[in-house]
Amino acid sequence: MPAATSRQASVPARQPHIVIIGCGFGGLAAAQALRDTRARITVVDKANHHLFQPLLYQVATAALAPTDIATATRALLRDQYNTEVLMAEVTGIDPQHQRVNCAHRPPLEYDYLIVATGAAYSFFGKDHFQQYVKVLKSVDDASAIRTHVLGSFEAAEQTTHQQTLRTLLTFVIVGGGPTGVELAGAIAELTRTTLACDFRWIHSSDVRIVLCESGERLLAGFAPELSEYAMKALADLHVEVRLKTRVTDIDAQAVSIGEERIPSVNVFWCAGTQARPAAQWLAVPAARNGAIQVLEDCSVPDHPNIFAVGDVASYRKHDGNPLPGLAAVAKQQGRYVGRLLDARITYGDSAAPRFRYRNYGSLAVIGRSRAVAEIFGHKLKGRLAWVIWSLVHLMLLVDFRSRLSVYLNWTWAWFTYGRGARLLTGTEVQQEAPRFLAAIGPDRGRGVCDRGVP
Ligand SMILES: Cc1cc2nc3c(=O)[nH]c(=O)nc-3n(C[C@H](O)[C@H](O)[C@H](O)COP(=O)(O)OP(=O)(O)OC[C@H]3O[C@@H](n4cnc5c(N)ncnc54)[C@H](O)[C@@H]3O)c2cc1C
Repeated sequence: MPAATSRQASVPARQPHIVIIGCGFGGLAAAQALRDTRARITVVDKANHHLFQPLLYQVATAALAPTDIATATRALLRDQYNTEVLMAEVTGIDPQHQRVNCAHRPPLEYDYLIVATGAAYSFFGKDHFQQYVKVLKSVDDASAIRTHVLGSFEAAEQTTHQQTLRTLLTFVIVGGGPTGVELAGAIAELTRTTLACDFRWIHSSDVRIVLCESGERLLAGFAPELSEYAMKALADLHVEVRLKTRVTDIDAQAVSIGEERIPSVNVFWCAGTQARPAAQWLAVPAARNGAIQVLEDCSVPDHPNIFAVGDVASYRKHDGNPLPGLAAVAKQQGRYVGRLLDARITYGDSAAPRFRYRNYGSLAVIGRSRAVAEIFGHKLKGRLAWVIWSLVHLMLLVDFRSRLSVYLNWTWAWFTYGRGARLLTGTEVQQEAPRFLAAIGPDRGRGVCDRGVP
């Protein structure tokens, strides 16, 4: 590449406009890689914040507050003078006219486009499940789960009816990947230790947590011995793990597994994901999960000025298998495309080396002091893996304020078993309150109690 001093000379007269849709891991990394590029960059996202999804389960279980893991996108890109941030929902792409269509605002014209809209949950064709389950993808989702869990305890404290109590205090998690395992472990700790101590009439044995996984083992992406360890760690936390178990139906009162019904109003869906519909917007071939099948340089077939990165893209490795939907993949792809465009715009460099994913390892945590890790081919479990998990996650948080706040919260929770973010406030509670009161029904209030003296 030419020396840095030649940058000025090779910049085109009119600055090209790069639009980045989505400011998750992929979009943010792309924008940051373009910070010195002589181009106008517009980052458009329907949310006004960048979210660190790997710690969402801790917001859902009251260990962290939403502000600990979400940072305003404008603040992150404040010092990047070539970049503008727009909060808007993209509704389509018109590649012929090089335009991005948005809801409630004029279209954005682009010279280069980076699509980084991520993925949402899929219900394997059983979309009616959606109305009865909670998913974990956004800050609102995490707050809704927290409200649900805390609200269920508040209602359970007031019921004298065993069946209602059981329905309120049974938590079913569907999907035994890292998110399901982490959520199950965290719910177990929250409900069996912190909450059960705070409520006078609830005993920890009233709480039932069931984790359903359709495959033969948990954490299928990890080595079998680490899956075994996760099983054991969850068993120690009194989580019932059901392997080779497919949920056949879900309604307002229960989860069905074939003939068996598990009464529960707390069902959390952590199963498959589906890419957001960018492949449809562009009318290009999609993988089974709806992701755009990108070329070796992450560009979209037949659209050399459009790139897709992260969960919305399906990138095939040399062996033909797609890369997994991980933050590290999205970040590396975003950074790669940012650098590629920088070289193209600044030096007219049209060569595009193949994108290569560097897999530094995988981590999953199962409650306090337990985790599994595969790092540089080494398999670790237990406390050492948990320390590594904590350090890596602290390091990966995008700003210092979040790091400090998360560190203090974790330290406090470690020594006290306490959870700070337990307030039930705002509209979520008003929406949920009727549901909880309905669950208590005529048994509300103490009097004749069939559950003994607290
Ligand atoms: C609960 C949970 C836990 C996870 N844990 C881990 C983990 O421990 N380790 C790991 O590596 N990965 C983990 N992942 C996966 C990881 O978070 C994703 O792979 C990663 O976020 C993908 O990055 P992305 O940039 O493709 O999409 P995202 O980070 O999802 O960002 C997509 C962005 O696009 C925006 N957007 C979407 N549609 C539109 C639209 N129409 N208009 C405008 N903006 C739009 C969204 O608001 C969002 O900001 C986890 C995911 C979840 C949900």
